[in-house]
Amino acid sequence: MSGKTLPVQLDDILSAAIRIDGRVCRTPMVASVVLSERMGVPVHLKLEHHQATGSFKLRGATNAILSLTREERARGVVAASTGNHGRALAIAASAEGAVATICMSSLVPENKVAEIRRLGARVRIIGRSQDEAQEEVDRLVAEEGLVMVPPFDHPAIVAGQGTLGLEIVEQVPEIGTVLVPLSGGGLAAGIAAAVKGLRPRARVIGLTMERGAAMKASLDAGRPVLVEEVASLADSLGGGIGLDNRVTFAMCRDLLDDVVLLSEAEIAAGIAHAYSVEREVVEGAAAVGIGALLAGKVKSLGAIVAILSGRNIDMEQHRQVINGDAIHGKDAA
Ligand SMILES: *Cc1c(COP(=O)(O)O)cnc(C)c1O
Repeated sequence: MSGKTLPVQLDDILSAAIRIDGRVCRTPMVASVVLSERMGVPVHLKLEHHQATGSFKLRGATNAILSLTREERARGVVAASTGNHGRALAIAASAEGAVATICMSSLVPENKVAEIRRLGARVRIIGRSQDEAQEEVDRLVAEEGLVMVPPFDHPAIVAGQGTLGLEIVEQVPEIGTVLVPLSGGGLAAGIAAAVKGLRPRARVIGLTMERGAAMKASLDAGRPVLVEEVASLADSLGGGIGLDNRVTFAMCRDLLDDVVLLSEAEIAAGIAHAYSVEREVVEGAAAVGIGALLAGKVKSLGAIVAILSGRNIDMEQHRQVINGDAIHGKDAA
Protein backbone atom coordinates (compact mmCIF):
# COMPACT_ATOMS: atom_id res chain seq x y z
CA MET A 1 0.00 0.00 0.00
CA SER A 2 1.43 3.37 -1.02
CA GLY A 3 -0.58 5.29 1.59
CA LYS A 4 1.46 8.46 1.61
CA THR A 5 1.15 9.12 -2.09
CA LEU A 6 -2.65 8.82 -2.28
CA PRO A 7 -4.62 12.00 -3.02
CA VAL A 8 -6.88 11.74 0.05
CA GLN A 9 -5.46 10.99 3.50
CA LEU A 10 -7.04 10.34 6.90
CA ASP A 11 -6.32 13.98 7.86
CA ASP A 12 -8.38 15.25 4.91
CA ILE A 13 -11.29 13.10 6.07
CA LEU A 14 -10.99 14.31 9.67
CA SER A 15 -11.08 17.90 8.36
CA ALA A 16 -14.11 17.10 6.21
CA ALA A 17 -15.92 15.69 9.25
CA ILE A 18 -15.43 18.98 11.11
CA ARG A 19 -16.47 20.99 8.05
CA ILE A 20 -19.76 19.15 7.43
CA ASP A 21 -20.66 18.60 11.09
CA GLY A 22 -24.25 19.70 11.71
CA ARG A 23 -25.10 19.71 8.01
CA VAL A 24 -25.39 15.95 7.51
CA CYS A 25 -26.89 13.31 9.82
CA ARG A 26 -24.91 10.82 11.82
CA THR A 27 -26.77 7.71 10.67
CA PRO A 28 -27.63 4.71 12.88
CA MET A 29 -25.72 1.44 13.07
CA VAL A 30 -27.85 -1.60 13.94
CA ALA A 31 -27.02 -5.26 14.52
CA SER A 32 -28.65 -7.79 12.22
CA VAL A 33 -29.61 -10.77 14.36
CA VAL A 34 -30.44 -12.97 11.38
CA LEU A 35 -27.29 -12.19 9.39
CA SER A 36 -25.08 -12.48 12.49
CA GLU A 37 -26.43 -15.95 13.16
CA ARG A 38 -25.94 -16.95 9.56
CA MET A 39 -22.35 -15.66 9.37
CA GLY A 40 -21.23 -16.74 12.83
CA VAL A 41 -19.75 -13.26 13.45
CA PRO A 42 -21.49 -10.00 14.38
CA VAL A 43 -23.04 -8.32 11.33
CA HIS A 44 -24.00 -4.65 11.58
CA LEU A 45 -25.92 -2.54 9.08
CA LYS A 46 -24.95 1.11 8.61
CA LEU A 47 -28.27 2.77 7.82
CA GLU A 48 -26.91 5.49 5.56
CA HIS A 49 -30.06 5.36 3.43
CA HIS A 50 -31.60 7.36 6.30
CA GLN A 51 -29.26 10.25 5.37
CA ALA A 52 -30.96 13.45 4.15
CA THR A 53 -31.66 13.14 0.37
CA GLY A 54 -31.72 9.36 0.86
CA SER A 55 -28.05 8.65 0.19
CA PHE A 56 -24.49 9.26 1.43
CA LYS A 57 -23.86 11.56 -1.55
CA LEU A 58 -24.82 14.51 0.67
CA ARG A 59 -21.55 14.08 2.60
CA GLY A 60 -19.30 14.56 -0.41
CA ALA A 61 -21.43 17.26 -2.01
CA THR A 62 -21.56 19.27 1.23
CA ASN A 63 -17.81 18.98 1.77
CA ALA A 64 -17.17 20.02 -1.85
CA ILE A 65 -19.44 23.10 -1.60
CA LEU A 66 -17.93 24.17 1.73
CA SER A 67 -14.41 23.75 0.31
CA LEU A 68 -15.04 26.34 -2.43
CA THR A 69 -13.87 29.91 -2.06
CA ARG A 70 -16.55 32.56 -1.56
CA GLU A 71 -15.94 33.72 -5.10
CA GLU A 72 -16.34 30.21 -6.56
CA ARG A 73 -19.51 29.66 -4.56
CA ALA A 74 -20.95 32.87 -5.99
CA ARG A 75 -20.35 31.63 -9.54
CA GLY A 76 -22.48 28.53 -8.90
CA VAL A 77 -21.83 24.81 -9.31
CA VAL A 78 -22.74 22.41 -12.10
CA ALA A 79 -22.92 18.64 -12.63
CA ALA A 80 -24.47 16.12 -14.98
CA SER A 81 -26.37 13.68 -12.80
CA THR A 82 -29.89 12.33 -12.79
CA GLY A 83 -29.50 10.45 -9.57
CA ASN A 84 -28.30 10.74 -6.01
CA HIS A 85 -25.40 13.10 -6.71
CA GLY A 86 -27.73 15.56 -8.46
CA ARG A 87 -30.12 15.48 -5.52
CA ALA A 88 -27.36 15.92 -2.98
CA LEU A 89 -25.67 18.75 -4.88
CA ALA A 90 -29.00 20.58 -5.25
CA ILE A 91 -29.58 20.49 -1.48
CA ALA A 92 -25.98 21.13 -0.45
CA ALA A 93 -25.75 24.17 -2.73
CA SER A 94 -29.03 25.75 -1.70
CA ALA A 95 -28.17 25.20 1.97
CA GLU A 96 -25.17 27.52 1.43
CA GLY A 97 -27.05 30.00 -0.75
CA ALA A 98 -25.33 28.84 -3.96
CA VAL A 99 -27.00 27.99 -7.25
CA ALA A 100 -26.61 24.43 -8.58
CA THR A 101 -27.23 23.73 -12.24
CA ILE A 102 -27.88 20.07 -13.09
CA CYS A 103 -27.58 19.09 -16.78
CA MET A 104 -29.54 16.11 -18.06
CA SER A 105 -30.53 14.63 -21.38
CA SER A 106 -34.06 14.85 -22.77
CA LEU A 107 -34.45 11.11 -22.12
CA VAL A 108 -34.52 11.58 -18.34
CA PRO A 109 -38.05 10.90 -17.00
CA GLU A 110 -40.09 13.95 -15.97
CA ASN A 111 -40.43 12.84 -12.33
CA LYS A 112 -36.63 12.87 -11.89
CA VAL A 113 -36.42 16.34 -13.45
CA ALA A 114 -39.20 17.63 -11.19
CA GLU A 115 -37.51 16.17 -8.10
CA ILE A 116 -34.20 17.95 -8.80
CA ARG A 117 -36.07 21.23 -9.40
CA ARG A 118 -38.01 20.79 -6.18
CA LEU A 119 -34.71 20.49 -4.30
CA GLY A 120 -33.76 23.96 -5.49
CA ALA A 121 -31.52 23.32 -8.52
CA ARG A 122 -31.71 24.81 -12.00
CA VAL A 123 -32.22 22.07 -14.56
CA ARG A 124 -30.74 22.24 -18.05
CA ILE A 125 -32.21 19.68 -20.48
CA ILE A 126 -29.84 19.11 -23.36
CA GLY A 127 -29.23 16.45 -26.02
CA ARG A 128 -30.17 12.80 -25.89
CA SER A 129 -27.39 11.19 -23.85
CA GLN A 130 -25.42 11.55 -20.64
CA ASP A 131 -22.38 12.42 -22.78
CA GLU A 132 -24.19 15.38 -24.33
CA ALA A 133 -25.28 16.51 -20.88
CA GLN A 134 -21.62 16.36 -19.80
CA GLU A 135 -20.62 18.46 -22.85
CA GLU A 136 -23.05 21.12 -21.64
CA VAL A 137 -21.40 20.99 -18.20
CA ASP A 138 -18.00 21.55 -19.85
CA ARG A 139 -19.44 24.46 -21.85
CA LEU A 140 -20.94 26.11 -18.75
CA VAL A 141 -17.58 25.78 -16.98
CA ALA A 142 -15.64 27.23 -19.93
CA GLU A 143 -18.04 29.98 -20.99
CA GLU A 144 -19.96 30.97 -17.88
CA GLY A 145 -17.42 30.18 -15.17
CA LEU A 146 -19.54 27.68 -13.24
CA VAL A 147 -17.59 25.28 -11.00
CA MET A 148 -17.97 21.59 -11.79
CA VAL A 149 -18.58 19.27 -8.83
CA PRO A 150 -18.15 15.74 -10.19
CA PRO A 151 -19.92 12.77 -8.55
CA PHE A 152 -16.82 10.87 -7.33
CA ASP A 153 -13.46 11.73 -8.90
CA HIS A 154 -12.56 14.72 -6.73
CA PRO A 155 -10.56 14.88 -3.46
CA ALA A 156 -13.26 16.86 -1.61
CA ILE A 157 -15.95 14.37 -2.65
CA VAL A 158 -13.83 11.39 -1.57
CA ALA A 159 -12.98 13.04 1.76
CA GLY A 160 -16.68 13.80 2.39
CA GLN A 161 -17.74 10.21 1.69
CA GLY A 162 -14.87 9.08 3.94
CA THR A 163 -16.60 10.62 6.96
CA LEU A 164 -18.91 7.62 6.80
CA GLY A 165 -15.85 5.47 7.48
CA LEU A 166 -15.02 7.49 10.62
CA GLU A 167 -18.53 6.86 11.94
CA ILE A 168 -18.18 3.14 11.24
CA VAL A 169 -15.02 2.89 13.35
CA GLU A 170 -16.65 4.87 16.18
CA GLN A 171 -19.77 2.72 16.12
CA VAL A 172 -18.04 -0.66 15.64
CA PRO A 173 -14.49 -0.22 17.04
CA GLU A 174 -13.70 -3.93 16.58
CA ILE A 175 -14.49 -3.76 12.84
CA GLY A 176 -13.13 -6.67 10.79
CA THR A 177 -14.59 -6.21 7.32
CA VAL A 178 -16.51 -3.35 5.69
CA LEU A 179 -18.74 -4.08 2.68
CA VAL A 180 -18.98 -1.04 0.40
CA PRO A 181 -21.13 -0.60 -2.74
CA LEU A 182 -18.76 0.32 -5.59
CA SER A 183 -19.32 2.36 -8.75
CA GLY A 184 -17.05 5.33 -9.48
CA GLY A 185 -15.27 4.52 -6.23
CA GLY A 186 -15.68 7.77 -4.32
CA LEU A 187 -17.41 5.99 -1.46
CA ALA A 188 -15.04 3.01 -1.41
CA ALA A 189 -11.92 5.20 -1.65
CA GLY A 190 -13.05 7.48 1.18
CA ILE A 191 -14.15 4.64 3.44
CA ALA A 192 -11.00 2.63 2.84
CA ALA A 193 -8.78 5.64 3.59
CA ALA A 194 -10.67 6.38 6.81
CA VAL A 195 -11.10 2.82 8.08
CA LYS A 196 -7.57 1.67 7.21
CA GLY A 197 -6.12 4.90 8.55
CA LEU A 198 -7.63 4.08 11.94
CA ARG A 199 -7.69 0.26 11.74
CA PRO A 200 -4.86 -0.88 9.45
CA ARG A 201 -5.85 -4.53 9.74
CA ALA A 202 -9.51 -4.09 8.79
CA ARG A 203 -10.53 -5.28 5.33
CA VAL A 204 -12.56 -3.20 2.90
CA ILE A 205 -14.39 -5.01 0.11
CA GLY A 206 -16.09 -3.33 -2.84
CA LEU A 207 -19.31 -4.84 -4.17
CA THR A 208 -20.91 -4.27 -7.53
CA MET A 209 -23.05 -5.87 -10.22
CA GLU A 210 -21.77 -8.60 -12.54
CA ARG A 211 -22.39 -6.75 -15.79
CA GLY A 212 -21.22 -3.23 -16.63
CA ALA A 213 -18.97 -2.71 -13.59
CA ALA A 214 -16.43 -0.14 -14.79
CA MET A 215 -14.18 -0.05 -11.72
CA LYS A 216 -13.84 -3.85 -11.63
CA ALA A 217 -12.95 -3.96 -15.34
CA SER A 218 -10.48 -1.10 -14.83
CA LEU A 219 -8.80 -2.74 -11.82
CA ASP A 220 -8.45 -5.96 -13.83
CA ALA A 221 -6.96 -4.04 -16.78
CA GLY A 222 -4.61 -2.02 -14.56
CA ARG A 223 -5.94 1.27 -15.97
CA PRO A 224 -9.32 3.01 -16.44
CA VAL A 225 -11.30 1.36 -19.24
CA LEU A 226 -14.74 1.83 -20.80
CA VAL A 227 -17.49 -0.71 -20.30
CA GLU A 228 -20.84 -1.00 -21.99
CA GLU A 229 -23.64 0.15 -19.73
CA VAL A 230 -26.24 -2.48 -18.89
CA ALA A 231 -29.52 -1.96 -17.04
CA SER A 232 -29.34 -3.23 -13.46
CA LEU A 233 -31.42 -3.22 -10.31
CA ALA A 234 -28.39 -1.42 -8.86
CA ASP A 235 -28.88 1.58 -11.17
CA SER A 236 -26.83 3.88 -8.90
CA LEU A 237 -23.80 1.67 -9.61
CA GLY A 238 -23.89 2.21 -13.40
CA GLY A 239 -21.66 4.55 -15.41
CA GLY A 240 -17.95 4.76 -16.16
CA ILE A 241 -15.05 5.86 -13.96
CA GLY A 242 -13.63 8.31 -16.53
CA LEU A 243 -10.67 7.47 -18.77
CA ASP A 244 -8.82 10.42 -17.22
CA ASN A 245 -9.60 9.28 -13.66
CA ARG A 246 -7.31 11.11 -11.24
CA VAL A 247 -8.33 10.09 -7.71
CA THR A 248 -10.54 7.04 -7.21
CA PHE A 249 -8.91 4.48 -9.49
CA ALA A 250 -5.54 4.64 -7.74
CA MET A 251 -7.16 4.66 -4.29
CA CYS A 252 -9.38 1.65 -5.03
CA ARG A 253 -6.40 -0.18 -6.57
CA ASP A 254 -4.20 0.45 -3.55
CA LEU A 255 -6.74 0.18 -0.71
CA LEU A 256 -9.46 -2.35 -1.58
CA ASP A 257 -8.83 -5.92 -0.48
CA ASP A 258 -11.25 -7.43 -2.96
CA VAL A 259 -14.11 -6.68 -5.35
CA VAL A 260 -17.10 -9.02 -5.30
CA LEU A 261 -19.64 -9.20 -8.14
CA LEU A 262 -23.35 -9.89 -7.71
CA SER A 263 -26.00 -11.20 -10.10
CA GLU A 264 -29.32 -9.40 -10.48
CA ALA A 265 -31.01 -12.22 -8.52
CA GLU A 266 -28.54 -11.74 -5.65
CA ILE A 267 -29.17 -7.99 -5.60
CA ALA A 268 -32.93 -8.64 -5.59
CA ALA A 269 -32.48 -11.06 -2.67
CA GLY A 270 -30.64 -8.30 -0.80
CA ILE A 271 -33.48 -5.80 -1.35
CA ALA A 272 -36.05 -8.41 -0.26
CA HIS A 273 -34.10 -9.38 2.88
CA ALA A 274 -33.58 -5.72 3.83
CA TYR A 275 -37.33 -5.21 3.62
CA SER A 276 -38.81 -8.42 5.00
CA VAL A 277 -36.26 -9.19 7.70
CA GLU A 278 -34.54 -5.90 8.59
CA ARG A 279 -37.61 -3.72 7.79
CA GLU A 280 -35.63 -1.30 5.63
CA VAL A 281 -36.46 0.04 2.15
CA VAL A 282 -33.24 0.23 0.13
CA GLU A 283 -32.36 0.66 -3.53
CA GLY A 284 -30.45 -2.02 -5.47
CA ALA A 285 -27.04 -0.36 -5.04
CA ALA A 286 -27.52 -0.40 -1.27
CA ALA A 287 -28.49 -4.08 -1.14
CA VAL A 288 -25.23 -5.54 -2.47
CA GLY A 289 -23.66 -6.06 0.98
CA ILE A 290 -26.62 -8.05 2.27
CA GLY A 291 -26.88 -9.81 -1.10
CA ALA A 292 -23.24 -10.91 -0.94
CA LEU A 293 -23.64 -12.23 2.63
CA LEU A 294 -26.77 -14.19 1.69
CA ALA A 295 -24.98 -15.63 -1.35
CA GLY A 296 -22.02 -16.75 0.78
CA LYS A 297 -19.66 -14.60 -1.29
CA VAL A 298 -17.92 -12.92 1.66
CA LYS A 299 -16.05 -14.46 4.60
CA SER A 300 -14.83 -12.62 7.68
CA LEU A 301 -13.20 -13.64 10.93
CA GLY A 302 -14.28 -10.44 12.66
CA ALA A 303 -17.29 -8.13 12.83
CA ILE A 304 -18.82 -7.15 9.49
CA VAL A 305 -20.40 -3.82 8.59
CA ALA A 306 -22.56 -3.66 5.46
CA ILE A 307 -23.30 -0.13 4.25
CA LEU A 308 -26.87 0.49 3.10
CA SER A 309 -25.97 3.42 0.86
CA GLY A 310 -29.31 4.73 -0.41
CA ARG A 311 -33.06 4.32 -0.62
CA ASN A 312 -34.00 6.08 -3.85
CA ILE A 313 -35.75 3.22 -5.62
CA ASP A 314 -38.94 3.48 -7.64
CA MET A 315 -41.53 2.08 -5.22
CA GLU A 316 -43.35 0.18 -7.95
CA GLN A 317 -40.07 -1.56 -8.81
CA HIS A 318 -39.49 -2.20 -5.10
CA ARG A 319 -42.94 -3.83 -4.82
CA GLN A 320 -42.18 -6.06 -7.79
CA VAL A 321 -38.86 -7.18 -6.28
CA ILE A 322 -40.52 -7.96 -2.95
CA ASN A 323 -43.20 -9.97 -4.79
CA GLY A 324 -40.50 -11.79 -6.74
CA ASP A 325 -41.84 -10.42 -10.05
CA ALA A 326 -38.79 -8.53 -11.26
CA ILE A 327 -35.14 -9.31 -11.05
CA HIS A 328 -33.97 -7.19 -13.96
CA GLY A 329 -33.27 -3.50 -13.78
CA LYS A 330 -35.47 -1.38 -15.93
CA ASP A 331 -33.99 1.31 -18.10
CA ALA A 332 -34.25 4.56 -16.24
CA ALA A 333 -32.42 6.46 -19.02
C1 LIG B 1 -23.32 6.79 -5.87
C2 LIG B 1 -23.83 5.61 -5.14
C3 LIG B 1 -23.02 4.48 -4.91
C4 LIG B 1 -21.63 4.33 -5.47
O1 LIG B 1 -20.77 5.35 -5.06
P1 LIG B 1 -19.40 5.64 -5.84
O2 LIG B 1 -18.72 6.69 -5.08
O3 LIG B 1 -19.79 6.10 -7.23
O4 LIG B 1 -18.66 4.36 -5.92
C5 LIG B 1 -23.55 3.45 -4.14
N1 LIG B 1 -24.80 3.50 -3.65
C6 LIG B 1 -25.60 4.56 -3.86
C7 LIG B 1 -26.97 4.55 -3.29
C8 LIG B 1 -25.15 5.67 -4.60
O5 LIG B 1 -25.95 6.71 -4.81
